[in-house]
Amino acid sequence: MIDMAALIDAAFEVKKRSYSPYSQFAVGAALWCEDGSIVVGCNVENASYPVSLCAERAAVAAAVALGHRKFLALAVVAGQHPVTPCGACRQVLREFGEMTVFCAAADDLQHPEVYELSALLPHSFDLEASR
Ligand SMILES: [Zn+2]
Repeated sequence: MIDMAALIDAAFEVKKRSYSPYSQFAVGAALWCEDGSIVVGCNVENASYPVSLCAERAAVAAAVALGHRKFLALAVVAGQHPVTPCGACRQVLREFGEMTVFCAAADDLQHPEVYELSALLPHSFDLEASR
């Protein structure tokens, strides 16, 4: 059972560690792994802007490094409005299957927008398509 509130809280908390001196747009993400554990990531910007890393992909990299391969849900928390993962992050998340995506405003964590990843990235390129 996914604990939505705990997942969103984890995304909110890790947002505080965001390294975003250029955009000032701090983002936190948290993945609910198949075993019930939560792995977090925050955005990490760079003076060379295009190599900046989104919170969602940072969370995926951390989770994979810890041995996780299946995620049931993702929470994303940024500013005053809910934000959805960017296109690149949607594709990276899709690699690990379907999941529910909670996008919460930082000042209204209890009322996230809720999506299925397949709705955010329809007709996606995936493992089966690449074979
Ligand atoms: Zn992204």
